[in-house]
Amino acid sequence: MDLTIRGATVVTPTGRFAADIHVHGGKIVALGTLDAFPAQVVDAGGLFAIPGVVDSHVHFMDPGEPEREDFITGSAAAAAGGTTTVIEHTHGAPVVDVEGLRRKVAHLSRRSLIDFGLAAHVWPDRLARISELWEAGPAYLKVFTCETHGVPAVLAGDLLQCFRAAARFHGLLLIHCEDDAMTRERERALREAGRADYGIVPEWRSREAEEIAAAETALLARLTGARVVIAHTSHPEAVELVHREHARGARVWVESCPQYFFLKEAEVLRHGPFRKFTPPARLRDGEDAARMWRLLAEGWITHISTDHAPSTRAQKQGGDIWQVPFGLPGVETTLTLMLHAVRAGSVTLERVVDALCERPARLYGFYPRKGSLLPGADADITLVDPARSRVIQDDQVISKAGWSPYAGMAVVGGPVMTFSRGRLVAKDGRPQGEPGWGRWLPGAGSPAP
Ligand SMILES: [Zn+2]
Repeated sequence: MDLTIRGATVVTPTGRFAADIHVHGGKIVALGTLDAFPAQVVDAGGLFAIPGVVDSHVHFMDPGEPEREDFITGSAAAAAGGTTTVIEHTHGAPVVDVEGLRRKVAHLSRRSLIDFGLAAHVWPDRLARISELWEAGPAYLKVFTCETHGVPAVLAGDLLQCFRAAARFHGLLLIHCEDDAMTRERERALREAGRADYGIVPEWRSREAEEIAAAETALLARLTGARVVIAHTSHPEAVELVHREHARGARVWVESCPQYFFLKEAEVLRHGPFRKFTPPARLRDGEDAARMWRLLAEGWITHISTDHAPSTRAQKQGGDIWQVPFGLPGVETTLTLMLHAVRAGSVTLERVVDALCERPARLYGFYPRKGSLLPGADADITLVDPARSRVIQDDQVISKAGWSPYAGMAVVGGPVMTFSRGRLVAKDGRPQGEPGWGRWLPGAGSPAP
């Protein structure tokens, strides 16, 4: 069915203009007024039209830990939040070889509401085969510099080898940056002291551990020429360390997430497991948050993802603070929180469109099919109401998590309709349609179409 979205203000990274959007065969075919275009009409007067969000870092645990999330609930939650593309990987059932990626693509053939890329994990004992893994089509290769969630660390010597190989085959790496020796030493010392209070989280996963790993990663990127994304960067010093190597020629990008702009370090002392994620929240005062917003506005933080890694309340309360899983739910709130920040004057809507839509689509090889409203692009369109106000509530959460760290927060601005290739997949915060619409998007290394 052809579709015309009428009367919206189209927002791009460089500006905004009034235009109708015409959709045919799941693609945007024209912007502007076409009186004779026969189509179903959606009235979007007073709304902004932005490209659907490309959330390049989510964990839907499917297969893996489906009691925490699965692709059906995760992709529906993402659509409700204004997202039309996710890039997913799961630590509980990591993809470490070509066969594993093929199996996962087959498993997900009818389980996603929106289009998706998949990442693969770099395992230290499989470094010799990452080139063939890259050619199978993951959107990126994920590397941990410290042992976390049962995923082994890739230490400096192996990291150098991995980066040299990735530079040769033009791969793209996403690096979780925390120093293994430092987190290990802190864990041992805290456990020896008998500590199991909530304060262990920021002591164990310290600023220093993140800064050392981020600096080392960015340096190795410069020395090898590998293309590297620093995952979920949590505070301004880490961003600035990475930027130093970027200024000297490193091909590095800096990802961050809403939790590093909105949640405070001290909240863990009260909320414990519900603020256990790593790197943890670092904001101590208003100046920390202002610096993060400046780094985002200026593009030093290049893009925003969610790092959606949900657990249910029961799972978060199923043991002491050492035992319960890391991670937060977030796919439903990322765009809303960023729109709220636009309203507050912390960042422009154009920059939000760049950081959530166009930049990740370009980085991971999906642009201009994704992350764009240009004619020829997939009709992945999110209509946003800048004046919509609501209080975030646990009972509205679609993710299996069933709770949000932002519950109780009053926000202004939010998605009202999400279209995936021209089909309505969410309206007013509720998913629409059946899973199975979403298709796998092979990564840039794949020779497949
Ligand atoms: Zn993650």
